Amino acid sequence: MTAPDAGLCDSCTFAGRQRSARGAEFLRCGLSDRDPAYRRYPPLPVLRCSGHRPIEPARRPGPAGPGQEPTE
Ligand code: SF4
Repeated sequence: MTAPDAGLCDSCTFAGRQRSARGAEFLRCGLSDRDPAYRRYPPLPVLRCSGHRPIEPARRPGPAGPGQEPTE
């Protein structure tokens, strides 16, 4: 099963996915911990967000895996 489209959250460093005991998946906004203007569990997909901070390319999960240097 693939994760639902989360819009901007898919590429945001503050986003984290959590799974409930029943298997439902939620996206949690880490920015909400320090700024109440952001919802802890935003309705998806998020299409506009002033707090969006792109994940650094080297940290994105992919064929090389998270935290590994990309090869060119
Ligand atoms: S800051 Fe915005 S884009 Fe980033 S996880 Fe929170 S709601 Fe999503």
